[in-house]
Amino acid sequence: MSTIHIVGGGLAGLSAAVASAAQGASVMLYEAAGQAGGRCRSYYDAALDAVIDNGNHLVLSGNTAVQEYLRAIGAKDALAGPEHAEFSFADLGTGARWTIRPGDGPLPWWIFDSARRVPGTKPWDYASIGLLLTAGRSQRIVDVVSCKGSLWEKLLRPLLLAALNTEPEKASAVLAGAVLRETLAKGGLAYRPRIAKPNLAAAFVEPALAFLGTKGGAMVHLGQRLRRIAFEGDAVAALEFPESTVRLAPEDTVVLAVPPWVTADLVPEIKTPTEFRSIVNAHFKLAPPPGAPAMLGVIGGTAEWIFNFADRISVTVSAADAIVDKDREALSWTLWADVARALGIDSTRPPWQIVKEKRATFAATPEQAALRPGCRTRWRNLLLAGDWIDTGLPATIESALRSGHKAAQLACARVAV
Ligand SMILES: Cc1cc2nc3c(=O)[nH]c(=O)nc-3n(C[C@H](O)[C@H](O)[C@H](O)COP(=O)(O)OP(=O)(O)OC[C@H]3O[C@@H](n4cnc5c(N)ncnc54)[C@H](O)[C@@H]3O)c2cc1C
Repeated sequence: MSTIHIVGGGLAGLSAAVASAAQGASVMLYEAAGQAGGRCRSYYDAALDAVIDNGNHLVLSGNTAVQEYLRAIGAKDALAGPEHAEFSFADLGTGARWTIRPGDGPLPWWIFDSARRVPGTKPWDYASIGLLLTAGRSQRIVDVVSCKGSLWEKLLRPLLLAALNTEPEKASAVLAGAVLRETLAKGGLAYRPRIAKPNLAAAFVEPALAFLGTKGGAMVHLGQRLRRIAFEGDAVAALEFPESTVRLAPEDTVVLAVPPWVTADLVPEIKTPTEFRSIVNAHFKLAPPPGAPAMLGVIGGTAEWIFNFADRISVTVSAADAIVDKDREALSWTLWADVARALGIDSTRPPWQIVKEKRATFAATPEQAALRPGCRTRWRNLLLAGDWIDTGLPATIESALRSGHKAAQLACARVAV
């Protein structure tokens, strides 16, 4: 029987493995690290004496690949979030607080209700959002919509910064439009915030490994870093690991689901994005005050989003390149000061951890987006997967899962399982 060899056990690789195994294919997954999950992982942190995520990951109820993947691995209840879309904000500069409560349906009646829309905005301000849906590939967001005013500062900028992990003004209008098309344009039911409970591994990784474990034809090899790909003619002939070489049968397929810089090292001929943006997360071991929202957008501070869990408070700073090299201790004080003000906490800094992901995602600029390759390559048995390939979405869980699913469809069609 032919085999689908998947290199990289992040969510793209797991998604490819799950979708292939579900169709009865023989699957070999090779992951360099000692655990699967890649940039979406949980680990035991000694400073907090708790299992935490490398970073807070937010998905939206309208993320179809997320729903499909969680259903496939038996984890459809692994995400928590409100019944209706709701986004609370605190402005540290002015002390103002507000909650946006969109309606469930696609017709945005809620923008006519001043208690539900962004303070300081008028209903007609929202019409400009539609312009992003028809933007051209080379356009930046600033070329399409006004990047100032209350709607921008209090809603669009924070949401787009989180979704694109790139300074929104310079980011690709097409990628912004893709996010809006699948969320805001569909109505509140499509953008209810969802967070993994109790952590990322429990929702996205462990159930996938358990699912693969139930499939006789699927094997997961951790601690296997692919060193070299041997090509012969128009095909991959072998995968070389430090201690073994896997020779491919003629009908075997390789799905390369590693980050762009690893892909570029292994196959220099494939063009990949070359610029990245970091994300900084701070975790504080303290139960949030009663009544604190599960998620709070912060304006006018260094912290951007605060996530409140039962036993800890976590902070995300996206496109954090200006602060990522700062001293951890100093960062923890800065971010704790923002948390204390935003949540009205009057106690000193609790035990903390700072997690820096320097290459969290590719920079979602029009120039970098143009460097994203498709799933197929010029080699007949080599496919690509990853949040960075050309899925039409920014580098998100949804993009990673879609890319893996598509690679699995193409790989299974090749071997006709
Ligand atoms: C801090 C942070 C916060 C984020 N927040 C969000 C969010 O809120 N919402 C959202 O949707 N997305 C978020 N993302 C993005 C999301 O995590 C990624 O889009 C997704 O995890 C990418 O999955 P992937 O499989 O494409 O890549 P990766 O997770 O990078 O997987 C690639 C895998 O390949 C392995 N590998 C590398 N080299 C080799 C080799 N030579 N041989 C074998 N294996 C190899 C790596 O170890 C890794 O496991 C965030 C990312 C970060 C870092």
